[in-house]
Amino acid sequence: MKIAIYPGSFDPVTKGHIDILKTASELFDKVIIAVAHNSAKHGFLPVEKRVELIKESVKSMPNVEVDAFEGLTINYAKKVGAEILIRGLRAVSDFEYEMQLSQANSALASEIKTIFLTTKPKYNFISSSTIKEIYLNNGDISKFVPEPVYEYLKKERKYGI
Ligand code: ADP
Repeated sequence: MKIAIYPGSFDPVTKGHIDILKTASELFDKVIIAVAHNSAKHGFLPVEKRVELIKESVKSMPNVEVDAFEGLTINYAKKVGAEILIRGLRAVSDFEYEMQLSQANSALASEIKTIFLTTKPKYNFISSSTIKEIYLNNGDISKFVPEPVYEYLKKERKYGI
């Protein structure tokens, strides 16, 4: 059974992430989307909320699981028996960082292979940080995030996240 992990911040999860996940779910037997817990970085949404919103957004994908982890991604991959690590590429600007990361991971654990996926062009420019910026400036994010994220943030706006 081929298990892949898709690690990231997902703060919040976007339609770009979901599109990558959909492709991955067609390629592998099981895909675990794993929210990286970074105690040094103060996030927009708490990790538990990110996990909850992803769970609601991937209900139609039966072979996708949602989890959170702390520490090195390769250690998490080993723990869950994943051989594949999925990352997304948007633009050339992502390439250098992603290449470095995949090479570092490969040097640490050569049995875990990084695979890069891209989204449909209409989702290509979407990033969590752009969405946060639009949201915090009262813009409409409905086109960029899955329904559960949109509904949650709409509700939260009243209380002023
Ligand atoms: P990280 O903080 O680890 O970069 P993100 O949640 O921002 O986490 O992204 C997780 C992964 O998804 C990264 O590999 C990122 O390049 C990729 N990604 C994010 N948005 C898109 C998109 N619109 N198209 C393709 N890949 C994307």
